[in-house]
Amino acid sequence: MNKEPQSTEKNLFWIHCYKCFELFLKKKRQFFLCECRHIICGLCLKRVDQKKAVCPICVKPNGFLLIENSMPKQFRMLFHPNPTSFKYIDWKIVLFQNDAQKHFSLGMLKMKVFLEQYKKNLIRSKMYAKKRYQYYKMLRGQRREEEQHYNSMVSGNNQSYAFNSTSGLGTLNGSNDFTL
Ligand SMILES: [Zn+2]
Ligand SMILES: [Zn+2]
Repeated sequence: MNKEPQSTEKNLFWIHCYKCFELFLKKKRQFFLCECRHIICGLCLKRVDQKKAVCPICVKPNGFLLIENSMPKQFRMLFHPNPTSFKYIDWKIVLFQNDAQKHFSLGMLKMKVFLEQYKKNLIRSKMYAKKRYQYYKMLRGQRREEEQHYNSMVSGNNQSYAFNSTSGLGTLNGSNDFTL
């Protein structure tokens, strides 16, 4: 009996695009195995010059094989969910999966560091924006006060002036408590 173990999320999580880290398990894109044994998603493969047919990771001239159940057995076996369960362990498969898992873990770690840095920057820029907002709010308040002050001065002065209709000369009427 050669019963193949079921592929579960746990033992296939490592199948990812070496370029953008998209996961095969998401089943949103096609994935390709390069001759150099790198894995690349369809979207990243589209971005490379198809005529040159080079791997986007190592830039070696390559052939690309769609990763699917009907791919030739020797390639399909590379994705076996439990290669150490074989009677005769095929180290090619184990090493291939090890490399991919290492690449994935390292990528996730880098992404975590990047995300933490991004979060810190976001908090910093939010604080900066808040400070600027407070500053502009304060300036607006100051301007409003000055406007009110100016308006009250102007309207106060208007009341203080009355023009002599016959001579046309301004004379102070009432309060004269202003300075020029
Ligand atoms: Zn990709
Ligand atoms: Zn490559």
